[in-house]
Amino acid sequence: MQGETTGLEGADSSYIGGDDFVRLSQDDINISFHIKNPNHDILALFRTVKRAQSIIQKMFGYNPGGIDIHIYNSKEEMRQEGRSRSRYASWIAGIYDGEIRVISELENGDTESLCVVLTHEITHLALDLMCHGNCPDWLNEGLAVCISQQMSDQYRSMLQNAIKNDKTIPIEVLSMRLFSHTDENIRQLAYAEAASIIEYLIETQGWESIAKMVSLCRNMKIENVFYSLGLSNTIIEMGWELWLKGKQLNGKENKQFV
Ligand SMILES: [Zn+2]
Repeated sequence: MQGETTGLEGADSSYIGGDDFVRLSQDDINISFHIKNPNHDILALFRTVKRAQSIIQKMFGYNPGGIDIHIYNSKEEMRQEGRSRSRYASWIAGIYDGEIRVISELENGDTESLCVVLTHEITHLALDLMCHGNCPDWLNEGLAVCISQQMSDQYRSMLQNAIKNDKTIPIEVLSMRLFSHTDENIRQLAYAEAASIIEYLIETQGWESIAKMVSLCRNMKIENVFYSLGLSNTIIEMGWELWLKGKQLNGKENKQFV
């Protein structure tokens, strides 16, 4: 019939209407997203969640169970929907505030970096549940970086400079909100150092020791956790710096390309 419309011809007149936030669920994974955002590769996101679940299961013997993920088009939308009413810093791409919230902008959406952010936040969710909210920041962020991505060249060179100039951050200070510091250099160094310390602990103490550390954090202060594992801030800091210096030396010897 002329003049009539089914309401399905164009995106703006679709039956979903202006509110296009939809939810897909499979195997206890729930992903809510804007169906009109053309950048979403939902299958890739489901695969990422499954992969993160299986890494966490393998490393900690833990299954975080149901996972709710919200994907927003902007930081402003995330702020409105999230549990924090404060403004999010410009660099934030995702948060875990009891639920996982990430941003995939309408333009320049990048599935690969969204998958990294998603894995990072899933790690926070699992650690929060495993430690009953008692995981120290450096352990939490260090593990989230190590599980979600390779250490970047930028992080490695920041660490080299920090070691060279004696500007590394003590573990005690690493747990003092440095991961949300407004100075980008300080914030990035905190992430790089936390991830590098985790790499060092995995290499020298074994993955089981990290898993033990995480499970003990549930009921113990980190100082007591270290004590029960024969460690301390100083032992880790000194060992880590020597380990990193040794790596840099080997790196120089073996480097074949500039
Ligand atoms: Zn984080």
